[in-house]
Parts: sequence; structure tokens; C-alpha cells
Amino acid sequence: MLKSQDFQTLKSLRLALHQHPELSGQEKHTSETILNFLNSYSPSEVLTNLGGYGLAAIWEGSEDGPTVLIRAELDALPIQESNSFAHRSTKKDVSHKCGHDGHMAILCGLAMQFQASPLSKGRMVLLFQPAEETGQGAKAVIADEKFRNINPDFAFALHNLPKHDMGTVYCKNGSFCAASTGLKIVYQGKTAHASQPETGNNPAVAAAQLVHCLERIIETNDFTKKTLITLTHAQIGEKSFGVSAGRAETWLTLRAFEKHDFDLLLTLVTREAELIGKRYGLDVSLSHHESFEVTENDYQSVEMVKKAALNLAIRYVEMTEPNPWSEDFGCYLQNCQGAIFGLGSGHETPDLHNPDYDFPDELIEQGVRMFWQLLNDITST
Ligand SMILES: [Zn+2]
Ligand SMILES: [Zn+2]
Repeated sequence: MLKSQDFQTLKSLRLALHQHPELSGQEKHTSETILNFLNSYSPSEVLTNLGGYGLAAIWEGSEDGPTVLIRAELDALPIQESNSFAHRSTKKDVSHKCGHDGHMAILCGLAMQFQASPLSKGRMVLLFQPAEETGQGAKAVIADEKFRNINPDFAFALHNLPKHDMGTVYCKNGSFCAASTGLKIVYQGKTAHASQPETGNNPAVAAAQLVHCLERIIETNDFTKKTLITLTHAQIGEKSFGVSAGRAETWLTLRAFEKHDFDLLLTLVTREAELIGKRYGLDVSLSHHESFEVTENDYQSVEMVKKAALNLAIRYVEMTEPNPWSEDFGCYLQNCQGAIFGLGSGHETPDLHNPDYDFPDELIEQGVRMFWQLLNDITST
């Protein structure tokens, strides 16, 4: 196993990543920093510019065996850090508030571990994925032709979980994270003089009806689990007392924990939005943004996560409900087996995306041990 000085090296890397965060799709410097680090640990092959600034480094065992992909995320968030510690973000309005800096450090620990004691069989692929926060990254990586060289048999990832017991592994079979999508609904009518609104078509009443019907959709239909519609933004007309509004824009985020619930929710909201627009003679346009699929763990992989935790004497908790947030890791699981698990980051750690959040470095060792055990269990059978 790695020594304490190795974990010091990983911690220094994590702090450096934290100081220099980059937004989704702009992770050029982060990707270069990781590549420089990994090059010291002799990967067999490196793929760069995967679906953006994505990076995959591959290590081959001495014999053929399964390919196991482990994923971390490169991106930070458009949030101003409120912490004053020495490693605070050097960029205004950008910071690592989801712990992706810590997840990257964990994967770098696997590169160190491989060099110290290579796997005898199979392939280890460390994937540093861009643009997770916008739901674009995993799809772009998979669509990239270079990803065909990887073709994983198994894919694993973890996410730290604030307000959960420090170092405990949390997992569940089936859906682990919610599906969600941003839905922008635009009603286009016709502007008019405010004194003669009847000569135009003001979409305000239609927009109000749309907002009003959302509650009914959530309450009256038979969803198997909780579903959620959140109004995130709305605009009707322009800031002018002289002009009757001609355009209304409503932004919603739809969320569900099961795929069939999500599909039903999307169908119902779309149908209602179109019906209302039509009733008022408006042009209706709908567009989807930042869409995330349900993240579905498979049973066998969850059993492997559980076994790895037990072997390492790490506490394991079977989750009863999926996480309410969304994650794009599920895209990899549509083509191979695998699972994402949670690693408790303690009750003192602020929630994900809070301005005072910071990844607890003590989790780096726990993450490296879990993934390394999984890699060994899978490739040795
Ligand atoms: Zn996040
Ligand atoms: Zn995250």
C-alpha cells in the first residue's frame, strides 16, 4: 500500500487543483496538470482531448484480462469561494465545490499504486472526464472515436457525500442518482402598445397557467417515486410600461428517481405546455438543457463494492433511497457493468455546491484503497 509521504504528495496535488479551478468545458490547465502528474507513473498509453479536455491514462497488467475504467471529473463550478484558507481558489466566481479535486487526487493515487505493485492481469483505465456539472461530458467522451480504444468491461466512480459518516461507503442496486433535465418553454405572441393590448397577443396568462398546472401534474399522476418540478427562472416581456408583452420564457428543472417516472413527467409537462400555448394562439418552442439520465448501478457490481469494503474493514451502508442530485456517470453504465458509490465526507463538511465546501483530504486514502481493492478483485478472477 502507499506510504504516508505518497498521501502527502496526493494532498499537495489536491490543494493545487483546488487553487486553480476551471469551469465545465474549459478544463485545459487541470487536464495538463493531471497529465504531468501521471506521466511520472509510466502509463502504457494516454488519450488526450477526449470529448473536450478529457484525459484517459491506461496501464496494462502482464496478462490479458478485463478492462476496468475508473472515472473522476475535471470541472469546478461557477461559485465564489467563501473560505479564507491558504489553498482557496485563486479565480473569482469559480471554485471546486463538489470535491472533484479530491476525486482526481484519488485516481492519481491509483497510478502511484499501479507503479508500486502492478496488476498481474487486465487493464486499468483512469478517466478524467470534462463537463460533468453540465451533463455534457460523459456523452461527449463516449461519442469520441478515441473512446473505442478503451471499451471497458467495468466502470466505477465514487462521489463524496457530506452529512454522511466520514469514510463510510454508501451504495445501492438500481438507481443511485436522479435523472434531471432543464426545460426551457418559450411562448411567442405579439407585442402591442400598452393602451391597445388587443392588437397583440400577450402570453402572460398562458405562462401563469403553465406555472399553475405544474403542481397538478406532480400531485395527480401515478408516479412510483417522488418527482420534482422546480421553477428556476421566468421572464415575460421587457421592462417597459409602454409595451404589452409579446414573449414569455419559463425555465423548469424536472427531476425523478426512476427512468419510467422521468419519461412520464417529461411527457406530461411537454403536453401541457403545448396545449396551453395552442389554446392562446401562441408559438410554442421547447428545448432541453443540461440533461442527466438516471444513474443505474448493476447488482453484481454493487456486490463487488460491498465485498471490497468488507475486505478492507470499511463500514458499508446499503442506501434505501437514491441521491436527489444528478450525475452523468450513468452514460457509461449503458454499455458496460459497473457502479458508482458514495464515500461519506463527514457531518462537519458543508453540503455540495455550498460556497464554504472543501473536500476532506482524509478521504483520499479511503478512495484509493476502495478502487484498488475493486481492481484487484475484478482482474484476479
Ligand atoms: Zn456537483
Ligand atoms: Zn460532483
